[in-house]
Amino acid sequence: MGAAQPGGPSLPQERRLVTAIPGPKSVALAERRGKAVARGVGTTLPVFVARAGGGIVEDVDGNALIDFGSGIAVTGVGNSAESVVRRAREQLERFTHTCFMVTPYDSYVAVCEELNRLTPGAHEKRSALFNSGAEAVENAVKIARASTRRSAVVVFDHGYHGRTNLTMALTAKNMPYKESFGPFAPEVYRVPFAYPFRWPGGAANCAREAAAEATDVIVTQIGAHNVAALVIEPILGEGGFIEPAKGFLPRIAEFCREQGIVFVADEIQTGFCRTGQWFACEDEGIVPDLVTTAKGIAGGLPLAAVTGRAEIMDAAHVGGLGGTYGGNPVACAAALGAIETMRALDLNAAARRIGMVMKARLSALAREYPAIGEVRGRGAMIAIELVRPGSKDAAPEIAAAVAKACHAEGLLVLTAGTYGNVLRFLPPLVIPEHLLVEGLDVLERAVRRVA
Ligand SMILES: *Cc1c(COP(=O)(O)O)cnc(C)c1O
Repeated sequence: MGAAQPGGPSLPQERRLVTAIPGPKSVALAERRGKAVARGVGTTLPVFVARAGGGIVEDVDGNALIDFGSGIAVTGVGNSAESVVRRAREQLERFTHTCFMVTPYDSYVAVCEELNRLTPGAHEKRSALFNSGAEAVENAVKIARASTRRSAVVVFDHGYHGRTNLTMALTAKNMPYKESFGPFAPEVYRVPFAYPFRWPGGAANCAREAAAEATDVIVTQIGAHNVAALVIEPILGEGGFIEPAKGFLPRIAEFCREQGIVFVADEIQTGFCRTGQWFACEDEGIVPDLVTTAKGIAGGLPLAAVTGRAEIMDAAHVGGLGGTYGGNPVACAAALGAIETMRALDLNAAARRIGMVMKARLSALAREYPAIGEVRGRGAMIAIELVRPGSKDAAPEIAAAVAKACHAEGLLVLTAGTYGNVLRFLPPLVIPEHLLVEGLDVLERAVRRVA
């Protein structure tokens, strides 16, 4: 296996196991890693990657794994996608960095124009670019505070917004994200999310009751007039791919509008065709005031953004937003290539197709195995929640055992959820259908063996 062999779209699209997982070269690298890399940086599957493309991740031992993770919803357009590589390479050869705040360049502007066009709503918009999702969320809060002159931020049960100090505060789950890392940023308040599978009053009442509880907390415990921003994932990501009960998001958005609260949709995981639409908010016609994006935006290069109403975005004073690397020219070029790919290949349609295939298979499996409590999600963002059969008690040990069995057979899957009992599937949107089906075969065998 020579360095000259390309990854990207030309990588052979077949699962192939030639050693145990992980193989000897990966095991040796893991040992080196243990002596060089801080323990706090975890690993889902310790195979070291040699190349990747389409629906395949190939490791240093020559094993080819089916990718149901996309580097956590990042490589929707595929790894080393042709137009991402072409545009990034051209940019690398012209200049690598000037800092947009020092001397600007046009690709930054072009990415902002795309974001202003693609995000929901026909109103006048502005965007600002950053490096990571957490940084985008922090900046959305800064902008909302500057615009409203209020300080409180409302977030939701099971929400995830990042690992910096403010975004740890915005994130619900303690372990592993927050444990021992406090104290956290103040003026952050958490309210219920419409989680139909676990709503005490039943799924049918979930949207109405959860919205009533959430808005009641805002009015009675915080004071709506003190709230700068409400930050919400239109489908919870790390929280376990929970689609809020229909009607919940419109109620919350309406409340924000009435109370002058900036409605921030965190579309970092759900954005850029992942759910079968450019943004998951479109599903119920929600027009957010601000949208945060990252992950899928640039085919794997680090880039993030805040996009929203011009009058809110422009409330921050000149010089108040930015950063040394934010909107790096290579990352901007990659984003333009990624967006071009999404349009050219109609990746929204591809995501919907993936969702149909997955849901049909997984629903049939769930009818056979009561350990699968629920199959849910939208487009190429699908999950199963595992429970003790005959109950809704979380079964993280079943999720872990199924994930382990999948990994051993060459299928990369991720876990999620507040209780660690959700298996989530995020295949690249360009995955060939035969690999999608084979991945589901592997998963099905793993469920049959474990559950
Ligand atoms: C991943 C994620 C973030 C954080 O993004 P980073 O790039 O890891 O900082 C924030 N919000 C959501 C919904 C995410 O999925």
